Amino acid sequence: MRLILMGPPGAGKGTQARHVADHFGIPAISTGDIFRANVSAGTELGVEAQRYMDAGEYVPDEITNRMVRNRIDEADAEPGFLLDGYPRTLAQVEELDGMIRHTGHALDAAVVLTVDPEELVQRLLQRARTEGRADDTEDVIRRRQQVYREQTEPLIDVYRERKVLVEVDGMGSVDAVTERIFAALDDVPQS
Ligand code: ADP
Repeated sequence: MRLILMGPPGAGKGTQARHVADHFGIPAISTGDIFRANVSAGTELGVEAQRYMDAGEYVPDEITNRMVRNRIDEADAEPGFLLDGYPRTLAQVEELDGMIRHTGHALDAAVVLTVDPEELVQRLLQRARTEGRADDTEDVIRRRQQVYREQTEPLIDVYRERKVLVEVDGMGSVDAVTERIFAALDDVPQS
């Protein structure tokens, strides 16, 4: 099973990614988590990525693509994977196409979580209070939402045209959303 999980910042991608990946026995690969781990560890990649993340901007495609390629090449991703937070630009879509083609498989579904804009801001401000993520300040939250609208929302149409888009209502409890994702993916044929 090869899946991507999309949605605006605050849509609950990270939470749902773990549930869905466990269910299908595939790794959840979160570019945001990998970047944050590198920032904490002070690696070269982390040093490079941090200034973009702190500003709410996307890390440049070359850096992100290379990181995802290396991760997908690991043995645990051979049966499949769920990408959380990648691709986010049209250039990343093309790059991912190449990576998957290389394995002889196809993308099975692009799941997009839809959530009311006001609810998104509330969730992110709540997360700022409980987790204290560096990029959860109000200004940076707004910038991340703008970048999402400009650069990532257009990807939804791309996947819709390819007939792999699965739109899921992301409002309500975590469990309710997980159940909706499972129900929607039940109908998807696996490559
Ligand atoms: P969010 O909840 O805002 O979607 P993530 O945890 O997924 O946050 O990502 C945090 C930050 O990591 C992003 O704001 C961005 O700077 C960087 N990042 C994550 N994924 C990508 C990507 N595919 N391309 C470029 N930058 C990315």
